[in-house]
Amino acid sequence: MKIEMVDLKGQYSKIQNEIDNAILECIRSANFINGPSVIEFSKNLSQYLGGAYVIPCANGTDALQIAMMALSLQPGDEVIVPSFTYVATAEVIGLLGLVPVMVDVDPFYFNITHENIEKAISSKTKAIVPVHLFGQCADMEQILAFAKQHGIYVIEDTAQAIGAKYTFKDGTQKHAGTMGDIGCTSFFPSKNLGCYGDGGAIFTNDEGLADKIRMIANHGQIKKYIHKYIGVNSRLDTLQAAVLDVKLKYLDQYSAARQAAASRYDSLLANLEQLQIPKRAAHSTHVFHQYTMIISGGKRDGLKKYLKENGIPSMIYYPIPLNQQEAYREIGRTTGDLEITNSLCDSVLSIPMHTELTIEEQIFIADKISTFLNT
Ligand SMILES: *Cc1c(COP(=O)(O)O)cnc(C)c1O
Repeated sequence: MKIEMVDLKGQYSKIQNEIDNAILECIRSANFINGPSVIEFSKNLSQYLGGAYVIPCANGTDALQIAMMALSLQPGDEVIVPSFTYVATAEVIGLLGLVPVMVDVDPFYFNITHENIEKAISSKTKAIVPVHLFGQCADMEQILAFAKQHGIYVIEDTAQAIGAKYTFKDGTQKHAGTMGDIGCTSFFPSKNLGCYGDGGAIFTNDEGLADKIRMIANHGQIKKYIHKYIGVNSRLDTLQAAVLDVKLKYLDQYSAARQAAASRYDSLLANLEQLQIPKRAAHSTHVFHQYTMIISGGKRDGLKKYLKENGIPSMIYYPIPLNQQEAYREIGRTTGDLEITNSLCDSVLSIPMHTELTIEEQIFIADKISTFLNT
């Protein structure tokens, strides 16, 4: 039994024929850039998401950058981001000369909260980037209402939550990434919808914005050799789109497999003192990009080491708050002492979570965790 954090080989083996055929077809047609599967996949993903425009691009980081360029954010404008997240979100803000305002997150759901956003707002605030961390949506209803009231854009970072659904108070449901002005996602291999290289996409419900985003992703070009905007070159390869178009059909099945594995972990790990299983928010489904526990009593690092000695990989997402990273100490602003973020960085641990995880593997993992925490 070789336990992996993510088992991409096992997942591929189940759909090998379909994937191989899709890739071969692409190679035989030699249509490597903007080929038919790019258009087909974008159309199918749009349909999956309930009709939002889908503009594919080269990766999730580009998606965030293009989103901010499309909203014409200007140097000095402030963008509110969670302090507990992957670096890409703040990176593109810095790259465009904008100011990242890093705010604390919820201690149980790990997402940015509207209360903390309200404390961070200033006359320079132009956008908020809720990151739907680990596969569960931030509290979008309140964030959207607040943003609307203040005339601020909302850019959702849904790189970890594609397939998750958010339920509004009136009962309407929307896909992660389709609630704000723009949604950004990544198709990095280990993401919930991953390709076999790099890939990303941008979502919006606004047709005019969709046109602008499409242009910016393609050298700001309105038609060949006519450049309306300063853009970038950011494309999804035809080969990657071919892979994604096959895998999209299985996305809901993959989410269900992750959810089933998460429930099994929940029961196997229940009643362990010093271990908090991931809490589910009432308003969102959880697609478990990660199964992230909180280990208290200063035992996190010891547990990680013990698991490694027993052949079990685990990861700390994320070990250092954004505001403490050298690159962001000078250019950003924070509010409050980011107490929750600091404590999460010292206590979170993510254990193997993927579509192929077996009950036997989970029992073994939970058994080792219990042994360590009980001694
Ligand atoms: C993976 C990820 C990104 C970046 O995606 P890439 O495709 O690797 O550029 C951005 N934000 C979050 C939250 C991510 O998890």
